[in-house]
Formats: sequence, C-alpha cells, structure tokens
Amino acid sequence: MGYIEDVLQHVYERDAAQPEFHQAVTEVFESLRPLLDRQPRYQQHRILERMVEPDRIMIFRVGWMDDRGRVHYNRGYRVQFNNALGPYKGGLRFHPTVYLGLMKFLGFEQVFKNALTTLPLGGAKGGSDFDPKGKSDTEIMHFCQSFMTELCRYIGPDTDVPAGDIGVGVREIGYLFGQYKRLANEFNGTLTGKKPGWGGSLLRPEATGYGLIYFAEEMLATRGDSLQGKICTVSGAGSVAQHAAERIIRSGGKVVTMSDSGGMIHDPDGIDAEKLAWIMEHKNVERGRLSDYVERFRRATYHEGQRPWSVPCHCAFPCATQNELTGGDAAVLLKNGVQLVAEGANMPCTPEAVEAFLQAGILYAPGKAANAGGVAVSGLEMSQNAMHGSWTREEVEARLRSIMAEIHNNIRSTAEEYGKPGHYVLGANIAAFVKVADAMIDQGVV
Ligand code: NDP
Repeated sequence: MGYIEDVLQHVYERDAAQPEFHQAVTEVFESLRPLLDRQPRYQQHRILERMVEPDRIMIFRVGWMDDRGRVHYNRGYRVQFNNALGPYKGGLRFHPTVYLGLMKFLGFEQVFKNALTTLPLGGAKGGSDFDPKGKSDTEIMHFCQSFMTELCRYIGPDTDVPAGDIGVGVREIGYLFGQYKRLANEFNGTLTGKKPGWGGSLLRPEATGYGLIYFAEEMLATRGDSLQGKICTVSGAGSVAQHAAERIIRSGGKVVTMSDSGGMIHDPDGIDAEKLAWIMEHKNVERGRLSDYVERFRRATYHEGQRPWSVPCHCAFPCATQNELTGGDAAVLLKNGVQLVAEGANMPCTPEAVEAFLQAGILYAPGKAANAGGVAVSGLEMSQNAMHGSWTREEVEARLRSIMAEIHNNIRSTAEEYGKPGHYVLGANIAAFVKVADAMIDQGVV
C-alpha cells in the first residue's frame, strides 16, 4: 500500500464509526497524490498522520433546566484541530445529530477552508446535540449560558474564536457572548457573528451566502458566462441559503426552490426579493415552517420530505447540510442540464455526486472554497475587534469580494499547475494543504 492508503486505513480503524470524518479525510488525501509524488518531504515529516489527529478535543456535560423546572443535560464539544496558521477558528453547531465524528469532519474541513481565506486562522469546530427547535428564548439562553460556562476555559481572542453554524445564529451568539464576557471579565473578540451594535462586523450574516455567489460568478466567468437569467435551485432556508438566494436575485438569476428539514418549496415564478423577505421574517423571527409559503404564494408547491434536486436548473446551490445531494440526485441534475454546482453547506454532496460532476466536466466547487466567505468575514471581525474599530459595509464587501476572487484564482492556478485545469477539488485541497503542511514543518514536531 502507498502512503495515502496506509494513513487512510489507520484512520478508518482507529476512528471507526466516524463515517463523515472518513469521508472528509479521504476526499482531501485522494487529491494530494500528484503533490506527494513531487514532494516526498511531507511523508518524511509524517504530515498526513499528524493532520488527522486534532490538537485536542474537549467533551463536556451541559446541564440546564427548562421553563417547567425539569432538568436536562446534553453533550458539548470543542475540537481544536490545527493552529499552524493562527488561532483556532470555527463555528458551533446545535443539532441533535451532533457527535464526535461530525465535529471532527467539520473541524478538519475548517483547517483547509481557513487556509484558503488568506487570513491567519487555524481550524476548529464545536457544538452540542442540543435541539433548539421548540425551545423558548429563556431555555435557549439557559442552555447557551451553561454551554459557555464550560467552553470559556478553552477559548480566547488569540486562542480559539468560535462562531455560529447550524442552530447557532445571532440570538445564540448573543447569549454565549453575554456569558463569556461575564466569566472572562473582558469585552473582546472571542466570538464572531456578534451583532454590529456590540462588536460584530457589518455583512457577517450575509457573508457565506454572498461569498458563495461571488465565487460562482467567478467560475461562470471562466466560461464567459454569468448568473443573468439562470434558473437556480437552492436548498436550505437558513442563514447561508437566504443570503445566497438574495445575491442570486440581485445578480439576475431566478431562484425556484428552497427547503428546510420538513421539505422543499418549488416556485416556478421565482422567489423574488419580496417573497424572500417573507421567508426571512417567517424563519428568523416567527421561527415557522417553510411549508407555510404555499399558503401565501399560491402558485408554489410544497413537497414534504423532498430536496430540490429533481427541479431542472442551470445552477444548484446546496446550502442545508452534509450529504444532502446523492449520486442519484447528481444524475438527475446532470440529465436536466445543470451547468454549475457550488456548495454553500459543508460537504453537502456525497462522494458519488462529486465524482459524477467531475466526470461530466461541469463547474463544481467544494464547500471549503465556495463557502469560505463566512469565516473570511469572521476573520475581518477579529481584526476590527483587535483594533477597536469598525469598517463600513462597503469596505467589508470589497474585502469579501477580493478574498473570494483570490481563493478562486489560487485554486485555478494550483489545479493547472498539477495538470488538472478547472478541477476545483484538487486545486483547493492542494493549495490549502501546502499552506498548512509547510507551516507545520516550519514549526517543528509538536
Ligand atoms: P441554519 O441553521 O441557519 O440553516 C440550516 C438550514 O438547513 C435550515 O433551513 C434547516 O432546516 C436545514 N437543515 C439543517 N439540517 C438539516 C437536515 N439534516 N436535513 C434537511 N435540512 C436540514 O445553518 P446555516 O445556514 O448557518 O448552515 C447551513 C450549512 O452551511 C451547514 O452545512 C453549515 O456548516 C454551512 N456553513 C455555514 C456557515 C455560516 O456562516 N453560517 C459558514 C460556512 C458553512 P430547518 O429550518 O427546518 O431547521
């Protein structure tokens, strides 16, 4: 067996029952063959073995009481994966499916994504199997306070800077920050995704979705094309999906689907700015279901338990969760003439789907590149906090645009250098790996 196979085998055996982690590691390492053939020093320094081992993992109990005085407990996690490039950075996810393997997959991906942003950021991920659905504001607050009481021992503005992810939005970041501040006795930039009124960066909520669409526009431009007039399917109805849809509409595309954990809406007339504003209000403020959309906008249909991939489109943007677009879905999308797939979520396409897109030669961008705009603006939030100042919306937007363009160019030129022009998976993985691996070598065996 070769070096890559040996390390993968070791991961599969040692970290058994962590399938998402295996999937993420396999995808990255399989791309590295042409690099490792040229550069034996990575094997000499045993970089692959060291990269799959997080720097440290914290697992803790989170006790809390509901509004009726009943006692509950959940499990909390923080996986500090790699800080070769800067302080650990990565979101917190509150969702019942959270377990160690999911945290490790997300933390591993984050290391590479953060390396691509051009900013000095290491990679981490955390969260809990707590389900925010159906909980009152007070219950969410009590949970966040208890979670932070433990987490605060491990984080700090130059150590580890968490942010939001699924189930953790500005409300949760507010409660987490409030408790952090109280325990640390400091008002600093330890969390990102804060509201602009109290230390947040303008454009942070929009950054992942906007960045995704800027990236997609860069991709289309390589084929002399744009989003103007393109039919687009979007999955999810959360932070990433909403802002991706907003940006598609502004760029002249037509968004015909969105989804949540209940099912998918299909609006053949297009979800325009007004309809999207209704979705945002309904999901973010009323915390309602997407199925209510069809009561309001009668020409749309609701498909319970379904995802958007059977709807014909030019561009598809999976923005909900991991493994939500399978090989079968990819075959349908390709049959319907899809030209571009860009991942807003982390690892939403299964390996079979990715392979199908690559074989077909369509434009396909992995999440670690296409959704890096969120963490990039989190990095900008850290800079603003460190200098005790803030940039205007225009300044942040210009920086985000230029970061997404730089990520795109870096990936394209790396893919070309390794003989695979237009292969965004290979380009992203090699470009990110080299940056992290070289820093690890420079910093010695630790
Ligand atoms: P949100 O919690 O705001 O939204 C998630 C959306 O996906 C919701 O509509 C939710 O449905 C749906 N969803 C979640 N889990 C499932 C599931 N298992 N099956 C079907 N639908 C599901 O999260 P974000 O928008 O922040 O994150 C979405 C994705 O983007 C994640 O993969 C995240 O890791 C990734 N990401 C997020 C970044 C950010 O800045 N927020 C940055 C980079 C990546 P419902 O409304 O019913 O809960």
